[in-house]
Amino acid sequence: MAQYWVNKNAQDNGDHEVHTKGCSHMPLPENRIYLGEFTNCRGAVAKAKQDHFKQSNGCFYCSNDCHTT
Ligand SMILES: [Zn+2]
Repeated sequence: MAQYWVNKNAQDNGDHEVHTKGCSHMPLPENRIYLGEFTNCRGAVAKAKQDHFKQSNGCFYCSNDCHTT
């Protein structure tokens, strides 16, 4: 299991990126929402979409399996 966060601030394309612990692109604490622990990024992105931002997407760097363009 890994901890995941979603960025409160959208990227230029409107995506709210989902990050896991240790990512070098992790938003500052005041700019992120803790999602919980998941076995992989898919569960984390689904949670972010359901509870926070419809347009959530996996981070290119730490959650590339869940990153769509
Ligand atoms: Zn990341």
